[in-house]
Amino acid sequence: MTQTTKRPKHVPQRLCICCRTNTAKRGLIRVVRTAEGRVVVDTTGKLNGRGAYICANQTCWQTVLERNILVNALRLQSVTEEDRAILKSFARTIEVQDQD
Ligand SMILES: [Zn+2]
Repeated sequence: MTQTTKRPKHVPQRLCICCRTNTAKRGLIRVVRTAEGRVVVDTTGKLNGRGAYICANQTCWQTVLERNILVNALRLQSVTEEDRAILKSFARTIEVQDQD
C-alpha cells in the first residue's frame, strides 16, 4: 500500500459481463449465484456467493437474458425459467438512462 498515484477518490469499478465495459460499481447491478444454484439480484451488494455485474441499462439486461451469458459468468448448469422470469421483470424496472 505504498502507491503514490494521485487519485482524489477511489471509485470501485466492475466489468459488465455483457458489454465488457468497466463501469463505476454504482452504475452496475450485481447478480449472485446462491448456494442452491439460483440466480438472484443483489441490490444490497452484500450477498454471499459468486457474483457478476451487469450494467444498469435495458440493453445489457436483454442481451444477458437472451444469450444465457449468466450461465458462463456464474458457472451455472442453467438458469431456471422461474429465475429468468424474475430477472426479466427486474430488468423492466431498470430506469432507461440517457446515453450520449
Ligand atoms: Zn454492460
